[in-house]
Amino acid sequence: MNTKVFLTEDEMPRQWYNLAADLPSPMQPPLGPDGNPISPDMLAPVFPMNLIEQEVSQERWIDIPEGVQELLRLWRPSPLYRALRLEKALGTPARIYYKNEGVSPAGSHKPNTAVAQAWYNKQFGIKRITTETGAGQWGSALAFACSLLGLECKVFMVRISFDQKPYRKLMMQTWNANCVPSPSPETNAGRDILKKMPDTPGSLGIAISEAIEAAVTDQSGQTRYSLGSVLNHVLLHQTIIGQEAKKQLAKAGEKKVDAVIACAGGGSNFAGIAFPFISDKINGADIAFYACEPTSCPTLTRGPFAYDFGDVASTTPLLPMHTLGHTFVPPPIHAGGLRYHGMAPLVSQTVVEGLVTPRAFDQLECYEAAVQWARTEGFIPAPETSHAIACVIDEAKKAKEAGQEKVILFNWSGHGLMDLNGYGAYFSGKLTNYALPDKDLKESLAPLDKLPKAKSIKTGKW
Ligand SMILES: *Cc1c(COP(=O)(O)O)cnc(C)c1O
Repeated sequence: MNTKVFLTEDEMPRQWYNLAADLPSPMQPPLGPDGNPISPDMLAPVFPMNLIEQEVSQERWIDIPEGVQELLRLWRPSPLYRALRLEKALGTPARIYYKNEGVSPAGSHKPNTAVAQAWYNKQFGIKRITTETGAGQWGSALAFACSLLGLECKVFMVRISFDQKPYRKLMMQTWNANCVPSPSPETNAGRDILKKMPDTPGSLGIAISEAIEAAVTDQSGQTRYSLGSVLNHVLLHQTIIGQEAKKQLAKAGEKKVDAVIACAGGGSNFAGIAFPFISDKINGADIAFYACEPTSCPTLTRGPFAYDFGDVASTTPLLPMHTLGHTFVPPPIHAGGLRYHGMAPLVSQTVVEGLVTPRAFDQLECYEAAVQWARTEGFIPAPETSHAIACVIDEAKKAKEAGQEKVILFNWSGHGLMDLNGYGAYFSGKLTNYALPDKDLKESLAPLDKLPKAKSIKTGKW
């Protein structure tokens, strides 16, 4: 029995899969401040036109340019592992497979889109890319990608993480990015906040506002902004994961997969592994999909499907998505990548349609799962990834009770070697569970009343 399945570089997928082409019910468009659908050219100061074209594309397959394939080959195809030792520890008849996305230089799935975005920006004549980062995973992925292509990279990092998480910052510096704590004195948005709250720890919302401002105010016109999740083109770039997994499962002799599982922050690693299989489900396959999130930031399980802004300052277009409200302030849980208030519109629509089942897990259950994983499978997972592992363990136990030989596939989205402080807090008993109180949810949803309403459109087939 093989522990892992490789693909050769020649077998790496040559196209990305666009689920928008196959959705059973139509997506609703992003809206501008006047409540009317935005046109692609309105996004031109923020993103390069070649990526805007991907954002609105309805083509099922989009070619991966040779230049991007060459960058991806640095670590792709990623291995598909069979979690034999965990299966044994659980005594489950289920066969558990996972894509190890922790093998990329930055240690997660994020470089899959970072290298693609950097490449398209360079093609378009862009010299400098700005972005925000919370815990630093996205900032380091983009810094790595820009260093390969000789682009300048400017990262606005949430101040509290900048002070508390020196290693991601040092990775960015090593890859030659310019990383500053946000709020910074470099933008109007940053200066405004600093004047009012000089000691603020910062927030992702403030950092997004700063990064967009820094891009659109560059008089040379050679700076654009980049986002690491949520948007259609970002999810598109991640679909290479699920396509590789399909080929690898076939090589492992599997004819069918019963459950596909991933954690969901903005939705990109979930989409990456799941979308190519959701296409099979739309065409009649019987597969369960679980998108896993924290109970403290329960966007898909408790947030309504509504039009909302992507940032606190209400500068982005309104997106139709599951949301906790753009003013939502997540508690300081250790899975920094799962603290976003919204969710990718494409992932949200699969939940509305009933193709995907969202599930929420408590922080302690997730760390328990992560530690069991590390003590059986060896690799130490990112705190985000542990939400998928908690779900996998639960499904494997159910298969045991039912005596069913299920095939479970999940996305091991990244390693936790830069997140050991969270493990330390868990071991010393400092972590607690924290379910979002109804009262807080109601408060953070209140501003949605004033915004246009999204319709929950579904065929009723699933
Ligand atoms: C950023 C991150 C996530 C969450 O982001 P998605 O866009 O939902 O994938 C999950 N896992 C890891 C390791 C991350 O770095």
